[in-house]
Amino acid sequence: MKIADIRTHLLEHQLETAFESASMRFDKRSHVLVEVICDDGTIGWGECLGPARPNAAVVDAYKGFLIGQNPLETEKLWATCYNALRDQGQRGLTVTALSGIDIALWDIKGKHFGAPISTLLGGRWHDRIEAYATGSFKRDGVDRVQDNALEMAAHAEAGFDRMKVKIGFDVAEDLRVIKAVREAIGPTWRLMIDANHGYTAAEAIKLGQAAAEFDIDWFEEPVLPEQLSAYRDVRARQPLPLAAGETWHTRWGYREALESRAVDIIQPDLCGVGGFSEAKKVADLASVYGVRVVPHVWGTAVQIAAALQFLSSMVPDPVRTAPVAPIMEFDRTHNPFRQAIVTSPIEHENGWVHVPDGPGLGIEINRDALRDFAPRD
Ligand SMILES: [Mg+2]
Repeated sequence: MKIADIRTHLLEHQLETAFESASMRFDKRSHVLVEVICDDGTIGWGECLGPARPNAAVVDAYKGFLIGQNPLETEKLWATCYNALRDQGQRGLTVTALSGIDIALWDIKGKHFGAPISTLLGGRWHDRIEAYATGSFKRDGVDRVQDNALEMAAHAEAGFDRMKVKIGFDVAEDLRVIKAVREAIGPTWRLMIDANHGYTAAEAIKLGQAAAEFDIDWFEEPVLPEQLSAYRDVRARQPLPLAAGETWHTRWGYREALESRAVDIIQPDLCGVGGFSEAKKVADLASVYGVRVVPHVWGTAVQIAAALQFLSSMVPDPVRTAPVAPIMEFDRTHNPFRQAIVTSPIEHENGWVHVPDGPGLGIEINRDALRDFAPRD
């Protein structure tokens, strides 16, 4: 079996209501899928995190290193592609594009051997994963405090026991949001906060100290991802566990954060960290340091399926009869193609998501939807 062709599929949808995190404004949803086609007809699918068109251009740049190669040799192909752009690469789009290719190759591997990727990664510990709801972005023209509280109460009503609110805008207003959300969902629901690196270290310390009374499970991306020393300051001077990693790439990108104990939880994104091949290495490295892994998820059903396969295979640490169960991020913002691009949508049931059983990622792509959401230009 040899790789015969690689195609990218851009997906776009203009949003009626734009929304914002502390670091980014979204007026459209935009993602790119990677399709790897083999000479025996086997097809694998992947997805890249981040800007769709630049990712597609980098996937194209890797094509010459992959056509005619054996798709089952995932480590060899990863190293060949990484090395091809290493001198000016190492992180960013060179790795997010490679992530989409690697996921597609693992999908092919699963289809070839007739096994889900979770089995190929070493074994399925879980057939379903508890999801947490991500939402509560800032929307134009509404009262953010009330809007976020209503939204989070609706997620609790829909069956989610865990949820995450967006902060990082203004410390005083963010504290009003956290208080209102805690009051809306009640004391037993689990609550996380995500600043999308919107604060200075001093603001993050102030927020973390004041938010502790609202029983917060983790404080995500308090400061810029490049500032590991600021992470260490924030971690030392406020009581909330810190989480980060959605913008860190490869085992080398995680090494310093783990070695210097900058965070309590890491959040590699399958479509950004380097695919399954690299996520496995990062998770193994995290287990050496006793750091919890909760992958970042912000994409289509391809990415959700990849995260589910990965989470299902993660070795519980410590291994015991009632292990610490993994949890998965479940984006609740508007994205009409998120589930439309697969023939069987991956939805939650009372806050839990079934891990697909079929070979590879365990999904089937709906090509009509790919055409429906292709950009018109
Ligand atoms: Mg985040």
